[in-house]
Amino acid sequence: MLKILNYIDGELVSPASTLYLDNSNPAEGKVYSRIPDSNEQDVARATEAAKTSFTGWSSMPLDKRTAILLKIADLIDRDFEKLSLAESIDTGKPVALAKSMDISRASANIKFYATAAMHFASESHLMEGESINYTTRSAIGVAGCISPWNLPLYLFTWKIAPALAAGCTVVAKPSELTPMTAFLFSQLCIEAGLPKGVLNIVHGLGDKVGQAIIEHPDIPVISFTGGTITGRKIAATAAPMFKKLSLELGGKNPNIIFADCDFEQTMETSIRSSFSNQGEICLCGSRILVERSLYDRFVQEFVRRTQALIVGDPLDEKTKIGALISEAHMNKVLSYIELAKQEGGKILCGGKQIKISGRCENGYFVEPAVITGLNQNCRTNQEEIFGPVVTIMPFDKEEEAITFANDTAYGLSATIWTENLKRAHRVAHQLKSGIIWINCWLLRDLRTPFGGMKQSGVGREGGWEALRFFTEAKNVCIRL
Ligand code: NDP
Repeated sequence: MLKILNYIDGELVSPASTLYLDNSNPAEGKVYSRIPDSNEQDVARATEAAKTSFTGWSSMPLDKRTAILLKIADLIDRDFEKLSLAESIDTGKPVALAKSMDISRASANIKFYATAAMHFASESHLMEGESINYTTRSAIGVAGCISPWNLPLYLFTWKIAPALAAGCTVVAKPSELTPMTAFLFSQLCIEAGLPKGVLNIVHGLGDKVGQAIIEHPDIPVISFTGGTITGRKIAATAAPMFKKLSLELGGKNPNIIFADCDFEQTMETSIRSSFSNQGEICLCGSRILVERSLYDRFVQEFVRRTQALIVGDPLDEKTKIGALISEAHMNKVLSYIELAKQEGGKILCGGKQIKISGRCENGYFVEPAVITGLNQNCRTNQEEIFGPVVTIMPFDKEEEAITFANDTAYGLSATIWTENLKRAHRVAHQLKSGIIWINCWLLRDLRTPFGGMKQSGVGREGGWEALRFFTEAKNVCIRL
């Protein structure tokens, strides 16, 4: 059985403990590889390597650093099919989605930041007749990057690309549930000639490896994407050490649909924004709010199209909904369906585990669920489920839709569907979410700030924000 290895100081190595964990294929419910059960010793080695390589990497001429990163992106493009297949097997997501979203975006992330670093500039301020100030921005040092399982290589590269482009060296931990593409990526880094120690990937459990990264005194900057509860724990550990933190956390995103929307476009995109990646995207809209005059028509058509989604073998190009990430996560999603029933919800379709015959008969598949009849305050409408489950609620007035939309602890993203431009802007300004899409969803320009308000996170990634995050500003004032 394939053994995944850590990538430390330029080499693929076994964990210090010599112990390995099982890695499962969720579509088959079967172990198919082994992953290092690393501990704080591996993190210490990785951090030492990252510290040693920092001076060389951060002072390397920018065009050389960029060229190495672009070479890595080219190798991702070369191995596009192989990486897409690996991502689909490791996560249970449809291979078609791994191609159109995950792997293409992983390459784009690296190209974007490799070239952005060439254009990144700092400021100068003139105080007429008195002084001139210039601000330098230098790489902070060793960055800790921790990423989740839902978009493994996509989110892994979204963190390490700006860190490396800014001149930091990195100790990274992918999710223990989805280590495979990060492992394949480490092989590409070696092939591309990334100097040893610049990127170190330590595989293993969150509360061992992740925690050791957060606690390490020589890692002053942490970029984390994952759940809000983990984020809170990380913040509590990092704050007394005065570490710089970026936290991209959970969401309970509203889709606000007005009666004057373009119905076909709204419907087609709302199905995607509800169920893409089995609903396991932090940006999925899980609360659909529909203006009452459109409500019945919307619900009827939405249910019809949800029932038409093909749930099946992720390797079949026709599949729209693959397997959930794990048995534990499937049970969590199913428990929320039960909760919705107890709270008075009506399950209009889906919400049950289904058996796929053949090779996937033991996989973790759940039919996409549409629920109505719940009020805004119930747990089903307040807590992140992170699966193929949406609720639909009617609203009468614009103000009511805004109140419902804002009335959760989260504030990651929201979508607004209307042909009334004034209303679109008005509503957008009143929503407490970091990302608003009007008449679209997941349309991403990598230059824009990305992140959540309230319990959806702290800080912003994307564009210059990420390069600023991984650098430290220093102002130099000269008397004229
Ligand atoms: P978790 O918070 O469970 O884990 C995220 C990462 O943190 C994993 O690598 C995990 O390792 C690691 N980890 C766990 N415990 C610790 C710890 N004590 N210290 C350091 N690291 C730790 O999230 P999930 O992987 O379950 O991902 C799903 C969540 O991520 C959802 O809430 C989703 O909304 C959010 N998310 C947010 C996004 C955003 O941009 N805002 C984007 C995508 C997802 P291990 O897997 O080994 O436990």
